[in-house]
Amino acid sequence: MTTDAMIPARATTGKVRSHQTQNEALLFEKSSPGKRAYKLPPLDVPAVDAATLLGTVHRTTPGELPELSEIEIIRHFTRLSTWNYAIDLGMYPLGSCTMKYNPRVNELVARIEGLAEAHPYRPDSLAQGILEVIDNLQRCLLEITGMDAITLQPAAGAHGEFTGILLVRAWHESQGNPRKKILIPDSAHGTNPATAAICGYTVENLKSNSEGGIDLEALTRQVDEETAALMLTNPSTIGVFESQIAKIAEILHAKGALLYMDGANMNALVGKARPGDFGVDVMHLNLHKTFSTPHGGGGPGSGPVACKAFLEPFLPIPVLVRNPQTLGAPSFPRSSAERVGDHEPQPAMQLGWSYNRPNSVGRVRAFYGNVGMFIRALAYILANGPDGLRQTTEDAVLNANYIRAKLEDIYELPYKTASMHEVVFSDKLQAARGVKTGEIAKRLIDYGFHPYTVSFPMIVHGALMIEPTESESLEELDLFIAAMRAISREVEETPELVKTAPHSTRVSKLDEVQAARKPILRWKRTT
Ligand SMILES: *Cc1c(COP(=O)(O)O)cnc(C)c1O
Repeated sequence: MTTDAMIPARATTGKVRSHQTQNEALLFEKSSPGKRAYKLPPLDVPAVDAATLLGTVHRTTPGELPELSEIEIIRHFTRLSTWNYAIDLGMYPLGSCTMKYNPRVNELVARIEGLAEAHPYRPDSLAQGILEVIDNLQRCLLEITGMDAITLQPAAGAHGEFTGILLVRAWHESQGNPRKKILIPDSAHGTNPATAAICGYTVENLKSNSEGGIDLEALTRQVDEETAALMLTNPSTIGVFESQIAKIAEILHAKGALLYMDGANMNALVGKARPGDFGVDVMHLNLHKTFSTPHGGGGPGSGPVACKAFLEPFLPIPVLVRNPQTLGAPSFPRSSAERVGDHEPQPAMQLGWSYNRPNSVGRVRAFYGNVGMFIRALAYILANGPDGLRQTTEDAVLNANYIRAKLEDIYELPYKTASMHEVVFSDKLQAARGVKTGEIAKRLIDYGFHPYTVSFPMIVHGALMIEPTESESLEELDLFIAAMRAISREVEETPELVKTAPHSTRVSKLDEVQAARKPILRWKRTT
C-alpha cells in the first residue's frame, strides 16, 4: 500500500556524510614524483639501455604520467564510482531506455575464457564455439521477432536504423527507383528522422491521432509512389500499442512502400507478439535495452537488424552461414595462425562467414559487431527461457500500469489509452504552480532515484516518461510512488525546494546550457 506518509528513508535534503561529497582531485594533481604502485625484484639479467634496443623510435623525454601509490589509485577510482547512479544502486525509470537490471549470469558467461579471449582474426575453423553462440542468438532473435534473416553487426539502435534504411534503399534501387521520402510520426525518437536524412531521404511528418496512434486517413493521403517506408515505433513512445499495425502495413505495401519498425520498445512485446507476424518488413532491436546488456559506460551497445526474406540479399557482409566451403573467400587478410592452419588437417567446418554477396550494402562495422554483448544477450534469453521472457514482458507492463494507477490522480495523463511498458504523464498540474518536469526530475535525485525521461516524447508538453521495467519489486515501486507523491506535495507547499533541487548531491543544480557549451575539462601540469 502506498500512502503520502511513506517517504523513503533515503530521501534527504541535507548533505550526505561521506567521500561522495568531497571533491576528488585529478590523478595528475595527486601525483608526487617517485611514488609507485608496484615493487619489482632486483634485476637478475644484464641491464640494457632501451635506446640501444629501440634506436630513435622511443621518446627522449619521459611521458608526464601521474605517480601514485596503489591505495591512492584504488581510492581515486572507488570514490569516482560512487558519484555515478547505476541500476545496481536503485531504480532507473528512464523512459524509452529500458534500464533493466543486467543479470550477473550474463557476466559470468561472458567471462568464460574461450569466449572472452576469442579474437576476430581467429580462423573460422578454430572459432566454431563462438560462431555457434552467434548463430544461436540469431536464431533466438528471429524466433522472437518472427522475421526471416538478421545481422548482428550494428553497434547501437541508431546504427541499426541506419542499416535497416540502407536495406530499404537498396531494395527500392533494385526495383528501379530508390524513392524520395520516409514518413515518420511526430511521436518518434529523434534518431528516426536523423536516420532517414542521413540515408538521403526527405522526412515527412505524420500526425498522431487523439489516442497517440497513426491517423489512417492521413497515412493513406501521404503514402505515394515516392514513399520508401514508414518508420514506426511500436509500442509508440507514449507506451501505446499500435492496434492498427496490420492495416498500416497493408496501406504501405499497396503503394510499394515498406514498414520499418523501431524495436527499441520490444520489452513490451517479447513472447507476446511478433513484428514479423503483423506486417513489419525490417526492424532493429536494442540488445542493451530489451536483452539486458549494459548501456553506455557499462559496455558497448548492439542494435541487430532483422528483416523479411526479400531484404536478405542486401544484409551487410559478412553473413554467418553453414558449410561456407562453397562460398567466396573472405576479403580481410587471414591471420598467420590460419595460414599455418591451412597445412593442418581441418576440423569439420560447420559455420563460417560469407563475403560473396554481390547485393550487400557493405560493412557497417569492423568485424562482426560487439560480440561480447551477443554472449550476454544469449545468456539472458536462455536463462529466462520462452516462459521467462513472456513473464518478463508481463511484469514490465504490470509495473508501468501500477505506477500509472498510483499517480494518475496527481499527475496529468494526457493519453488515456492502455499503457504498455511505460507511462507518460505531463507536468500540467505542477506547471500551474510554476514547477516544470525537469525540476521534478531533479528533485527525484534527492529521494534516491534516477530521473525519469524529461520532455520526451515531443507530442506531450512537459512530459514525464516513466519506464520501471520488470526488474523492480513492489517495494521499490512503492518507494518511487511515495517519492513522486511527496514531490507533488512539495510543489504545493514549498515549490522553491523543488525548483532548486537537487540538494543531496556533490554539485547542486547546474546551468545545463553552460555545461554543454563551455565544459571545463581540467588538466593541470604537476611540473
Ligand atoms: C533508444 C532508442 C533508440 C536509439 O537507440 P540507441 O542504442 O540509443 O542508438 C531509437 N528509438 C527509440 C524509440 C529508442 O528508445
